[in-house]
Amino acid sequence: MSKPVPIPDAASAFFWEGAARGELLVQMCADCESFQYPPTVVCEKCQSRDVRPVRVSGRGTLYALTVMHQAFLPIFAEDLPFTIALVDLDDAPGARLLTNIVDAAPAGLAAGDPLEVVFEPRGDYALPQFRPARSQPERGGAE
Ligand SMILES: [Zn+2]
Repeated sequence: MSKPVPIPDAASAFFWEGAARGELLVQMCADCESFQYPPTVVCEKCQSRDVRPVRVSGRGTLYALTVMHQAFLPIFAEDLPFTIALVDLDDAPGARLLTNIVDAAPAGLAAGDPLEVVFEPRGDYALPQFRPARSQPERGGAE
């Protein structure tokens, strides 16, 4: 048995295809310029259908977390305890990801911590997760 794999649909295909390349993408509304996640077919703020994928840096801030001590799927037992978190993306205000924090003991984490994305291969795609930031953000640099 292996861990669950992403099953993209029409709205989320760009997200999973980006993750497979090691890129984190969210949606930005072309009409009101708000960011959103998870992917959907309309802007949640203004109902425009002109929502477009944009690549973000992968830097984020820990908003909230909880620690799992029980595996509801046996395949996750080896990861216990693990951290489930809400992460705000630094360069996409309004986009908040439900994800895991990896490479960090849960007790050492707190809201406000700077994080960076990492990608765990899953099937043909990859799952974006976050770990404590290891490097300083570049200032004004292009990607
Ligand atoms: Zn909009």
